[in-house]
Amino acid sequence: MSTFAQPHFAAPCPATIKVPKSFGWLASLVITLPMLLLTGVLLFGGLEAFRNPDLLRLGSLLTVWLGLNMVFFAMMQTGKTNVFRSTLFVIIAISFVLTFIPNLIETRGNIGLTQTDFIDGKTPFCHMVIPMVLIPAAFTKTIIFPGSLLTGYASIGSMLVLWLAASLTLGRGWCSWVCFFGGMDEGCSHLLKMPVMKTIDPRWTYLPLAILLVIVLASAATLSPTYCEWLCPFKAVTEFESVTNVRTLVQTVLFVSLFVGLVVVLPILTRKRTQCALFCPMGAFQSWTNKLNIHEIRVNREYCSDCGRCVSKCPTLSITKESVARGCALSSCTKCGLCVDECPRKAASFHVKWTCAFISPRLARVLFLYPAFLFMSAIGGSMMVGALVRILRLIATGSMF
Ligand code: SF4
Ligand code: SF4
Repeated sequence: MSTFAQPHFAAPCPATIKVPKSFGWLASLVITLPMLLLTGVLLFGGLEAFRNPDLLRLGSLLTVWLGLNMVFFAMMQTGKTNVFRSTLFVIIAISFVLTFIPNLIETRGNIGLTQTDFIDGKTPFCHMVIPMVLIPAAFTKTIIFPGSLLTGYASIGSMLVLWLAASLTLGRGWCSWVCFFGGMDEGCSHLLKMPVMKTIDPRWTYLPLAILLVIVLASAATLSPTYCEWLCPFKAVTEFESVTNVRTLVQTVLFVSLFVGLVVVLPILTRKRTQCALFCPMGAFQSWTNKLNIHEIRVNREYCSDCGRCVSKCPTLSITKESVARGCALSSCTKCGLCVDECPRKAASFHVKWTCAFISPRLARVLFLYPAFLFMSAIGGSMMVGALVRILRLIATGSMF
């Protein structure tokens, strides 16, 4: 009989299974070589960087490129996923702030937005508003978020294409591998060794879905990006309208309070990614994309001792006692790999749907990690390069600009 009861398993799994997760040095090197090439193409974008070299930028590019590939090699060689992913994820979030704000100051003079900036489409398009733009775009042919349609990396067109490709490939893995905001609450969630608040009522995990429904309908009704205007915690570290009246004052207070509460204080107290798990409507939206892609986390019931370690460790409350009993994570799983790393019985594993689980758990893991790491490098790598350039410039000249 199959180890798993799930109906979509096409073939029965063997009863006794060895679960090696890591590779030897040579195999890790061989697996890393194509990654070295692919990330090189993504980061350098051709030979232009070498033709008229800006030494600071070229040095930063080479450092980030080699650093990323050393991390990927370490993932293969140790069999550990989350510790490396999490470190990069936090660095990328910090890099985002270190590049975004200086860029704004350089191009606009300050981080405050004016109505003219909105109307002129000078605001970069952010993936958080994707759920809000879909209904207006479909029914009224209106893109409600002011931003460039086709020009620039953060244009509406390129962000939608990137989101679609990543969602089809990774599902809600987006939230642990691609989203450059996610590293903020993740970083704060690591600050204390033990949680002060030890339990969170699981019913709170429905809140993002409720927020999603409200903001999608409100955005469609008002043809304005409701979440972006009123609820986004990350406005506090990106850009928001200058405070000129009561409305902008209320908005600013909301942005800062949500950031402090959800991204800083609650993650510290709970050791969970509270913004991602309990508030973010984009995260709720991403959960359904888990159904569209082939990667998932499974639990081998034959090995599982029901110790509950994965349940207590999961940073997004995406695996429960009940789901472990069913042999899977919930649809909100962000595929961070923590439960796989932490499982003392090696019962939790990455898995490719419609294949027999655990025949080759290493292969299933590599098949997920390859695209996940490439998306992470494509988005985060350029931010890390930008941040490194700013930091080196600051050290060399005393100014980031
Ligand atoms: S940590 Fe591993 S053994 Fe413990 S409940 Fe989770 S899957 Fe089972
Ligand atoms: S279930 Fe496992 S892989 Fe999914 S989010 Fe939780 S810890 Fe990460």
